[in-house]
Amino acid sequence: MKTAVIGIDIGGTNLRSALVTASGAIVEQRRSTSGIETGRDRFCSRLLASIDELREEAARRGIRVHAIGAGVPGLIGRDGLIHSSVNMRPLEGLNLGSFLEERTGLPAACGNDANIIALGEQRFGAGKGLSSFLVVTIGTGLGSGLILDNRLWTGANGFAAEFGHVTVDPQGLPCPCGNRGCLEQYCSGGAVVRAARELIPAGLLAPAPPEPGAEAVAALARQGVAGARTAFERLGRWLGIALGSLSNTLNLEAVIVGGGVAASFDLLLPGLRAELSQRCFPHIYDGLAILKTELGDDAGLLGGAALAEERLHVPPPPRTEDDGPSLQAP
Ligand SMILES: [Zn+2]
Repeated sequence: MKTAVIGIDIGGTNLRSALVTASGAIVEQRRSTSGIETGRDRFCSRLLASIDELREEAARRGIRVHAIGAGVPGLIGRDGLIHSSVNMRPLEGLNLGSFLEERTGLPAACGNDANIIALGEQRFGAGKGLSSFLVVTIGTGLGSGLILDNRLWTGANGFAAEFGHVTVDPQGLPCPCGNRGCLEQYCSGGAVVRAARELIPAGLLAPAPPEPGAEAVAALARQGVAGARTAFERLGRWLGIALGSLSNTLNLEAVIVGGGVAASFDLLLPGLRAELSQRCFPHIYDGLAILKTELGDDAGLLGGAALAEERLHVPPPPRTEDDGPSLQAP
């Protein structure tokens, strides 16, 4: 009998779930609004209904579902509790993995959304065959997940790899976390728009509202607007300043860049490389590949699937020749 797991991507706006095979193929998926504002009970009912639909579809296709993995934005402890989630407040205090196990009878686990994207890239994407790397997702904010020696590194209490809150400017911009000068304030979609407004002639970017996004700045950069290119270069430099310290600490094999801003990977790369080459020991920089995520919009779903496979203690497969070279030269 064929088997699959269910990967779930829970966000403040959308709730997505999918049947995923061991090789990372999405067989069937469901998408709805998360509707978290209607409260925990209704959200959980919707979540369970989507799981039931996928299990029914699996049964029709002769597929046995053997585990569930879900990603949630927020701090999730080793105890399995969602300790804090700005976008999903009603879920705070819930052990979603245990809840899903009780209600579905399947092994289940829940993890931080950026952490499970790192697991997904390790099992199915750009991190295949790599043992130590950081995944950085740059969008509205900056999320990250760290794989060290083939394991997702969650730290003493489960909260590790909050790389977006590394201080890059001690007297810098205030951050919602309570600190000042966090990387996320300088390396995010909003940050690139803010930088562009300082650097390019007024009127080139649409006045708010609606607020233009990073993609509008990227479009100007590709049209040759120098200030727009500089805005992305600055974003790359801030990322490089923080990554230089991390790379000197951990001697990673790769950093894998994803999220909405990753569509502009080529625009941020020059600034990122310039800072890394200046700040890292040469032996460390030479061994560090800078890659783009391979899982795109499905990263959360495939991350959930990777977490489900982990829950079943299935190790990630080694890289094969079909996967291409494991590293690209810096
Ligand atoms: Zn912060």
